[in-house]
Amino acid sequence: MTINEVLNRLKTGNQRFCRDQMIRMNQDSHRRQETIQAQNPFAIILSCADSRVIPELIFDTGIGELFVVRVAGNIANKSTIASIEYAVANLNAPIIIVLAHENCGAVTATLQNGNFGENLEHLVDHIRPAIHDASVNEVAKKNAMITVEQLIQNSSIINGAVNKNQLQVLPAYYHLGSGEVEYL
Ligand SMILES: [Zn+2]
Repeated sequence: MTINEVLNRLKTGNQRFCRDQMIRMNQDSHRRQETIQAQNPFAIILSCADSRVIPELIFDTGIGELFVVRVAGNIANKSTIASIEYAVANLNAPIIIVLAHENCGAVTATLQNGNFGENLEHLVDHIRPAIHDASVNEVAKKNAMITVEQLIQNSSIINGAVNKNQLQVLPAYYHLGSGEVEYL
């Protein structure tokens, strides 16, 4: 699939999700059999771990269609970059979407600036550069845009694919109520 075909597929899938018209293709036993030997996902999604943000549902996709990496705050750290690099280098997916969302707990925690302990501090550290004089949701959007830059800057594999026009990295923002994915 070309970049435009993938974008179109994601947009139409999200429209079906928003309208309660999901077709739930490729989620059955036939599809499981078909994908035993190999996966061929058409998009990579870096999303938050939030239980309300479920990429496979949001884009009305099935087994083997999305390569999803989830971590609170959808940050680019070594683990998420390495996972994404695998999908770019071996599976040739032409799009990465960094999917931020409304009312993100990780962003809210970062803005509260408390004492987080070592592990959560690692996560919050990645979100801090997005803090500016704005609401939680605006910081979440900014964080998605910064994460896009970091994925490209901190990975020669992602950077190389972008430079060859084989890969696009896009920030997006998910609206909890409407279900809409807004491209930033
Ligand atoms: Zn979140």
